[in-house]
Amino acid sequence: MKWKDAMITLGALAAMAVVSVWAYRNVTRPPQDLCRVCNRTLHAGVTYRLDLATGKEDACCPRCGMHYQIEHPGAIKKAWATDLDSGEFIPAESAYYVEGGDIAHCAVQSGALQREPQGVSVREFDRCLPTLVAFRTKQEAEGYQRQHGGQVLNYQQAMNEVKVL
Ligand SMILES: [Zn+2]
Repeated sequence: MKWKDAMITLGALAAMAVVSVWAYRNVTRPPQDLCRVCNRTLHAGVTYRLDLATGKEDACCPRCGMHYQIEHPGAIKKAWATDLDSGEFIPAESAYYVEGGDIAHCAVQSGALQREPQGVSVREFDRCLPTLVAFRTKQEAEGYQRQHGGQVLNYQQAMNEVKVL
């Protein structure tokens, strides 16, 4: 049965291709492009940078970065948030934040469903949610809030929220 053999070969090749693509996307991606905390890809506009004694570490969003700060007290020399409007790094302590807006900047790609070896599971806990984005000024934060909802917080308030969730 040549036809059947051909189908089996084709099936095996397809399986190998799928595995290679998966491995390329999940295993061999350069680590510097991933969030230090949740391993998601970094996105311009919401990256949160931490200056440590050992070098710089990037987190995919202020929420992840603040988690790291809370879990490693004393390890951070300086924290930088990205101003969503300009894409520039600004000192995290002087930034204003909007929590809970309707755009999940860093959860867009993975969504609530997660593929795992044993099947598909719904993620109940997400480090990046509720969303937290940073702005240079309170006015910019309030402008975002008008469009996307959520609440405007200063640095200390944002840290307190991250501690709770
Ligand atoms: Zn993250």
